[in-house]
Amino acid sequence: MIQTEICDNMTRNAPKRIYIKTFGCQMNVYDSARMIDTLAPHGYVAANTALDADLVILNTCHIREKAAEKVYSELGTIRRLKAAKTRGGGQMIVAVAGCVAQAEGSEIMRRAPCVDLVVGPQSYHRLPDLVARALHAGNTQVLDTSFPAEPKFDFLPETSAPGGVGAFLTVQEGCDKFCSFCVVPYTRGAEYSRPVQQILDEARRLVSYGVREITLLGQNVNAYHGTGQDGREWRLGELIRALAELPGLLRIRYTTSHPRDVDEELIAAHRDVPQLMPFLHLPVQSGSDRVLARMNRRHTASEYRRIVERLRAARSDLALSTDLIVGHPGETDEDFQATLGLVNEVGFAQAYSFKYSPRPGTPAASAEDQVPGSVKTERLAALQLLLAKQQRDFNNACIGSILPVLLEKPGRHAGQLVGRSPYLQAVHISAATDMIGTIVPALIVQAGANSLAGSLAETEPR
Ligand code: SF4
Repeated sequence: MIQTEICDNMTRNAPKRIYIKTFGCQMNVYDSARMIDTLAPHGYVAANTALDADLVILNTCHIREKAAEKVYSELGTIRRLKAAKTRGGGQMIVAVAGCVAQAEGSEIMRRAPCVDLVVGPQSYHRLPDLVARALHAGNTQVLDTSFPAEPKFDFLPETSAPGGVGAFLTVQEGCDKFCSFCVVPYTRGAEYSRPVQQILDEARRLVSYGVREITLLGQNVNAYHGTGQDGREWRLGELIRALAELPGLLRIRYTTSHPRDVDEELIAAHRDVPQLMPFLHLPVQSGSDRVLARMNRRHTASEYRRIVERLRAARSDLALSTDLIVGHPGETDEDFQATLGLVNEVGFAQAYSFKYSPRPGTPAASAEDQVPGSVKTERLAALQLLLAKQQRDFNNACIGSILPVLLEKPGRHAGQLVGRSPYLQAVHISAATDMIGTIVPALIVQAGANSLAGSLAETEPR
């Protein structure tokens, strides 16, 4: 009751400005947008810089190396801005959200007294109340890193217009896989899938705002098992088919998937649903069965190969992207050669590759057979050489073909637009701005490491 009154007071006051700095993956980008949606009814509008803001939120990610240290360094800058603002008679609430907030919790408050509020990824629907408490708490810091029994999606307001042709839509959160190197099961909690109806409603709203491509998000998106309108449990393939029925939705993608959760229904969706793009991010992490077992990945290299074969049999133009880690504890030269072998065999259009680095609290972090840094550096360089060649070859092979390109926004040069190919490559093309939001056939005439250049083609793409 008290909290509601405080919230009402927030609404009655003049507009307040919010600045969110987002680190990490698309799921955090989605969460940041939803945080603004949550606070907008309480009088908050977006600010361009932290200095202009009454509320600064760092929406953090724990995946990369030294993630927490980067947050503390960022907080050093925010502390100085807050002090300057306070000296000028203003007020600034500083909040830390996301996975580092979940993992570090009260440690953040201890090390960074300028922080007023720490909120975990499953609690940000409570931001209006938490911010109100922080505003009235004086020097007391507010912490909410609980995993609430109620799913936050039931409490978030309707999505606002994302202001572009493409949008993210979180359908699933959390993970029960517990890979040896990963913090997600600890920071995001157990797997949760949103009900089908909620997702369809959000997708319909996005399309009404002009969105033409939706990327379905989840830490383990193809573990999706939400309740359908018929009361049954729907898997991702069935959800994709329902989304494809929405008029105006031209393209569907999903990320990040796990090989173990690629089921027949999903493979059939790749075969049957033209809106589902033939580009799949399917992390493999290693090509060695021994390392995959140490990673607790629950699949072997041959199982991964078989899944790729089945997907390609269903959709012959399917291209793949993947994640790879080199130097996981216990990885030998022979294991690493197996990774190179798998990459050579499968062939990736794109990939993210990293040196293993320990995340506190994960099983691999305490393993005794850590691989020396110099070995990891050497292996990563060799792997990235191969991956860069595969990406170059894939892009070069597009030259001379006609690809359907969804035009997204103006390019850097006058008269130029930038769009996306089915394979997520940026494509630069001369076209009128009123064509933004449409799919055009583009003859690809040039390929770079990360983008293509094309011209409008007269024939429809095959
Ligand atoms: S499946 Fe993905 S999110 Fe889940 S523990 Fe493994 S790497 Fe982390």
